[in-house]
Amino acid sequence: MNSTTTSLPATDVVLIGAGIMSATLGLMLKELDPTLTITVFERLDVAAAESSDAWNNAGTGHSAFCELNYTPERPDGSIDISKALKIAEQFEQSKQFWAFLTEKYNIKEIERFINYIPHMSFVMGRENVEFLRKRHAALTDSALFKGMQFTEDRAEIETWMPLVMEGRDAEQTVAATRMDLGTDVNFGSLTRGMFYLLQEKPGVTMHFHHEVDKLHHNADGSWRVKTKNLENGQEVETQARFVFIGAGGGSLPLLEKSDIPEADGYGGFPVSGQWLRCINPAVIARHDAKVYGKASVGSPPMSVPHLDTRVIDGEKQLLFGPYAGFSTKFLKTGSYFDLPASIQFGNVKPMIMAGLKNLSLTKYLIQQVAQSPDDRLAPCASTCPRPRRRIGSWPLPASACRLSKRIRKKAACSNSVPKW
Ligand SMILES: Cc1cc2nc3c(=O)[nH]c(=O)nc-3n(C[C@H](O)[C@H](O)[C@H](O)COP(=O)(O)OP(=O)(O)OC[C@H]3O[C@@H](n4cnc5c(N)ncnc54)[C@H](O)[C@@H]3O)c2cc1C
Repeated sequence: MNSTTTSLPATDVVLIGAGIMSATLGLMLKELDPTLTITVFERLDVAAAESSDAWNNAGTGHSAFCELNYTPERPDGSIDISKALKIAEQFEQSKQFWAFLTEKYNIKEIERFINYIPHMSFVMGRENVEFLRKRHAALTDSALFKGMQFTEDRAEIETWMPLVMEGRDAEQTVAATRMDLGTDVNFGSLTRGMFYLLQEKPGVTMHFHHEVDKLHHNADGSWRVKTKNLENGQEVETQARFVFIGAGGGSLPLLEKSDIPEADGYGGFPVSGQWLRCINPAVIARHDAKVYGKASVGSPPMSVPHLDTRVIDGEKQLLFGPYAGFSTKFLKTGSYFDLPASIQFGNVKPMIMAGLKNLSLTKYLIQQVAQSPDDRLAPCASTCPRPRRRIGSWPLPASACRLSKRIRKKAACSNSVPKW
C-alpha cells in the first residue's frame, strides 16, 4: 500500500458494479443474513447506467412466451421445450422475489418497474406456421404456459397487432400466439430501487466513481480489492471475505485479474444493440404488445426482430430492433482498448476458433455494421408493412448499448462456444 492509498474497513462482501446483478445478490444476502457487511464499488456516478438501464435493453421479462429460439425443432419435427420450461420457471422465481420485496417494503408504485404487456410470436409462411402450431401445443401442456392462444385468423391477429398486419399481402400465410401474462420490466428503475433499499440497511456502503482495478487473492482465501477514486485519482483499498464481479461488460478484465483457474480460456467480443425508437404518439398508441418474429435461416438468435411496447418512466414507448453493431469497448462508457487488452495467451486460440466455427454469426455482424440507415429501416418495414409515411415515425437508431459475447474454451479448442 503506498502513502496515498486510503484503507476502508474490511467487509464481508464486495460487490463490483451497481447493475441488476449486484443489486439482486446484495439484497438476497442481506435478507438471508442481516449481519453481513457489504461494500459496493461503481465506476459511474449512478446505479444501472450500463446494460441495466431501461434504454439499454429490451425490457422483456423473458418467460419463453414469445421467444421462438428457446423452443428449437428437433430433426424428427417435434419441439424441444426443455429450455423454455427452465426459463419460464426462473422468471417466475424472479417475480416471486420482487413480489416479496414489494410486500415487505410496502412498495406502492410497482408499475414503475414491471407492467403486463402481452407477449406475442408472429410468423409468416406455411412451414413457420406449422412450427408455431406445434410449439403452442407442446407448451400449453405445461401449467406455466396455460392461457397461451394460437390463431391463424388474420382478422384476430389484426386486433392483436394492427401495425404488423396493416398493408400486409392478403395471400401471405401468417399465424401468431398471444400470452397476456407477458411483462415489460424497467430493469433500470428496479435496480435503482433495490440499491435504495440496500443502502438503507446497516453495514452497507456504496462508493460511486470508484473503479476496481486490482484483485488479489490472499493466502487465507480472502481478497484485497484495489479501486481508484475517479474523482480525485486516489487509490482505495479494502479486504473482503467474498467478491462478486457484477461488472457486466467490465467483468472479463476483472476475472482475468483475479487469477482464479476458472477464469482461464474466457474471451469477450463486444456487440452493441440498437433500436429504432418510434416518436409518433399516434403510432405508439396503436400497439400494445411485445411481438417477436423468427430469425432468418442461418442468423443467430440475437437477430430476432421484435416490435416492443415499453413502459419507461411511466410513458408508453415503441421500439423496433435490435440491430447489432461492433466496437472494441466492453462497456458503453468503456475504453477502445478493452478488447485488445483482454486478449491473453490463454484465450486467443478459443477466440479465433469461436469466430471460425460461427461464421454465420461473424457474417451477420459484418452485414449489420455495414448497413446504411435505409437498410436499417427495411426489417422494420417488413414487420410493419403499412405505408412509407409511417416509416417517418422511426427516424433513428435510438438507443445504443453494449453486450459482451463470452467465448468459453471447452476441453478442446475446436469446441469453442459463444455464450450471451
Ligand atoms: C441489446 C440488449 C438487449 C437486452 N434485452 C434484455 C431483455 O429484453 N430482457 C432481459 O432480461 N435482459 C436483457 N438484456 C440483458 C440485460 O440487460 C443484462 O443481462 C443485465 O442488465 C446485466 O446486468 P449486470 O448487472 O450484469 O450489468 P450492468 O447493468 O452492465 O452493470 C454493471 C455495472 O458495473 C460497473 N462496472 C464495470 N466495471 C467496473 C469496475 N471495474 N469497477 C466498478 N464498477 C464497474 C458498470 O459501470 C455498471 O454499472 C439485454 C442486453 C442487451 C445488451
